Amino acid sequence: MDNIFPSYDDPLFSILIIVILILIVATSSYLLGNIKEERKEKSLKKFLNRFNNEDYNLELEEMPFELKLVKPLKLLALAFKNQGNYQRAINLNIYLIDNITHFQDKKEILAQLGETYLKAGFLKRAEVIFLQILHKYPRDKESLYHLGVVYELLNEYDKALETIIPLKLLGEETKYLEAHLKLNRLLISKKLTPKEKVEELEKLLENNIYNYRVIIKTLFKLDLESAWRNIKNSKLHSILDILWFLPFSNLNFDIISSDKTLSAIFFAKGSLSLNKEKIEKSGIFVIDTIISSKIGGSDNVDITFIYGCRKCKQYFPITFVRCPQCYAIDKIKIKERVAEKESQTGYSLL
Ligand SMILES: [Zn+2]
Repeated sequence: MDNIFPSYDDPLFSILIIVILILIVATSSYLLGNIKEERKEKSLKKFLNRFNNEDYNLELEEMPFELKLVKPLKLLALAFKNQGNYQRAINLNIYLIDNITHFQDKKEILAQLGETYLKAGFLKRAEVIFLQILHKYPRDKESLYHLGVVYELLNEYDKALETIIPLKLLGEETKYLEAHLKLNRLLISKKLTPKEKVEELEKLLENNIYNYRVIIKTLFKLDLESAWRNIKNSKLHSILDILWFLPFSNLNFDIISSDKTLSAIFFAKGSLSLNKEKIEKSGIFVIDTIISSKIGGSDNVDITFIYGCRKCKQYFPITFVRCPQCYAIDKIKIKERVAEKESQTGYSLL
């Protein structure tokens, strides 16, 4: 054995000790590294699993930040937002923003935070976020559009119209958005008397870029005579629900009787009595179906309405001007269905 190991005073002995020490250090580091990595993975899994528990409060401060977390947490925040779980989406976005150093890397997360605030109804917070993005990136179209929506929901139409100026400069088609904002500014104006408002609305009807449905609905509230005078036969289908739910006292039978489609609609509704031989087809499927069933002796038929968005294809039970899902304007699609009459419908959309 004495011949295998070098003696203490042999230089080879020192080299052997150094090699052994290096091996011990390398092996320990490797093992410790593996354990640390395993702990981190477990910690991440535990952290992410918490999101599956509805009642669990997120303790984001406990989570050590790592760059590899950014992508999965961004997706998780987006999923929370889409599910309507806004508080969790907000917390996650704030956690990421707090931990990311460079503004450029935060921009997308800031935009998502702004959109989540907007959806959740935290309009002033959404405003701050979009202004922050636009301060660094004044040409960011999405932020300009979203900021316009924020101001619209805050009824600050002058500010909303200001967002159109840079959008125009960026080459965006803003004609309909501008008309939408100007019309809504007019509707909430306190400077005009109802009579002046009616006059302004009638002027806007001459221009096709203003939303006909919104104008007619407002006219029915402000001036029945003006509303009926401005009913256009070619646009009846787009206001069928408004007409269908009009209270009996708001009907103008002189105008209804002079138009075959209006006559058909209100005969179907049961507001107008007509000789069955005199009824003409309206060209609106549900109305003609109800008329056929009435002629056949059944009076138990009604219409139900749902409202779709031609842009995002979502359907909603209530009417809208700006889509609640994707914020598109003038994209409403009214879908009517024949339904069994449940009770006397006495409410109006006005
Ligand atoms: Zn939509």
